Amino acid sequence: MDNGKTELEIPEVSEFLEETVGEEGLYVVKALIGRELTDESLSEETELKLNIVRKILYQLYDYRLASYVRTKDKKIGWYIYTWKLDLGKIIGVIANRKERVLKELNQKLEYETNHVFFCCNNDNSKIPFDLASECSFKCPHCNGTMSYHDNQSLILSLEEEIQKLKQELQYA
Ligand SMILES: [Zn+2]
Repeated sequence: MDNGKTELEIPEVSEFLEETVGEEGLYVVKALIGRELTDESLSEETELKLNIVRKILYQLYDYRLASYVRTKDKKIGWYIYTWKLDLGKIIGVIANRKERVLKELNQKLEYETNHVFFCCNNDNSKIPFDLASECSFKCPHCNGTMSYHDNQSLILSLEEEIQKLKQELQYA
């Protein structure tokens, strides 16, 4: 059973996992490739504390990247959770997240493009023209003088980021 090995070899996938569950999370993921284990055996194998292993497993579960089966141990009467990895959906999960980021960047770009900004000379607070005008071009935080702020470089970098994401999502 492959069960995640192929996906994990994609750099974007391991980056995403490291970002969401951390380096320790990656140990757990790797330990789970191709097999099913209880949280306790995972803890022993990765030498991570049980509560940390559980936290990682539930983070993966949140993304539907892992699932568990609950059984009752007849001898001790406790429930045992046997986990398995399901990285089949991870490409979709990553794409969804990029879509969200893209949407936010587009909104930000629209906001930056449609407004003229003023910036406080003391603390760099940045506010749109309308608000600055209402405050007679005095900073609402420190009452400092505000002057015109050129946001062209921010707009350019937003456009670049958007372009890059679109390419990654193959919209371009
Ligand atoms: Zn200020």
